[in-house]
Amino acid sequence: MLRIGRRKRQGLCPSADISSNDLRFGGLVMSMNSIAVLTSGGDAPGMNAAVRAVARTAIANGIRVIGVRRGYNGLISGDVFEMNLRSVSDIIHRGGTTLFTARSPEFNTPAGVQKAADTCRDLGIGGVVVIGGDGSFRGARDLTNAGIPCVGIPGTIDNDIQCSEYTIGFDTAMNTAMEMVDRIRDTAQSHDRCSVVEVMGRRCGDIALLTGIAVGATSILVPEVEYDFQKDIIDRMQFTQMTGKKHFIVVVAEGIGGVEQLAKDIEDKTGIESRATVLGHVQRGGSPTLRDRVVASEMGYKAVELLVQGKSNRVVAMRHGDIVDFDITEALQMKKQFNKELYDIALKISI
Ligand code: ADP
Repeated sequence: MLRIGRRKRQGLCPSADISSNDLRFGGLVMSMNSIAVLTSGGDAPGMNAAVRAVARTAIANGIRVIGVRRGYNGLISGDVFEMNLRSVSDIIHRGGTTLFTARSPEFNTPAGVQKAADTCRDLGIGGVVVIGGDGSFRGARDLTNAGIPCVGIPGTIDNDIQCSEYTIGFDTAMNTAMEMVDRIRDTAQSHDRCSVVEVMGRRCGDIALLTGIAVGATSILVPEVEYDFQKDIIDRMQFTQMTGKKHFIVVVAEGIGGVEQLAKDIEDKTGIESRATVLGHVQRGGSPTLRDRVVASEMGYKAVELLVQGKSNRVVAMRHGDIVDFDITEALQMKKQFNKELYDIALKISI
């Protein structure tokens, strides 16, 4: 592993001036000598599986792979290392990201993007795979515009990428939230309490919706649907109370927030002891589920395939269960669809 300064970069990568070798990839003739991979923005379980798939797919096709530490910061400072097949051994089951991640204010400036592009040129990097959220994809778009082809992979627990029905880490985060709420439910049930639980999702209520269904929440509050305190929480609690229910779970997306106050308001209004819990970062960690490992592997493979095909400014996505890709600029303008049908079903069956 190397941590190199700008002066030494040429030495790390003599292939900067190697002429392109034609290599075969999925029946295609391609010319791509070297790619970089980085994780950026918020971490998500399954990012390691994506890095592994990128590295293994590229190396198997004769492409050098440069691992970049701490997102765009690593590209700016040259904190990179050459990967081999074993660099990604023993990481598929690990949460977090072994490449580390960061938010890079410097990259958010034209000078920062230029520095990162210069690093890529110094190292002979022909393309960059960026695993992160939509902020990271804006960065990938800027780096592409600076002459370095980029492909994004959606890695974020919130499932808030507009063009993709699934993002890496979502399944693990939901399962963690479900397990945590199950535990809270045990104690809520023992004390005839109401538990108000905040789960992650600033702009997107998907974690709250699916976790809410899975734990049988009486009410689910998401940023996509306006709620009325009396009608959507109190009336529902009182109706179920009349039919014999004695403990209650209210799941609230982070984007709604204010769970302490909400619990207090519920207790004041109903007389039912109410407690608030913010699950927080516990939802980010842990070993990725099977679904996250598999989707990450498919997406990592696809990202390398796109670069090899000479495509750039693309983001890998899932649509109707298939792995597809979109132009990043167009993808950033898409609108995320909230599953209102499922939300309505949840309301009907949790009463
Ligand atoms: P996420 O990728 O999880 O949405 P952020 O929004 O924090 O996380 O973005 C991660 C990094 O991507 C930022 O620190 C910055 O370096 C880069 N980035 C974010 N937004 C932009 C932008 N508009 N232009 C260029 N780079 C950006």
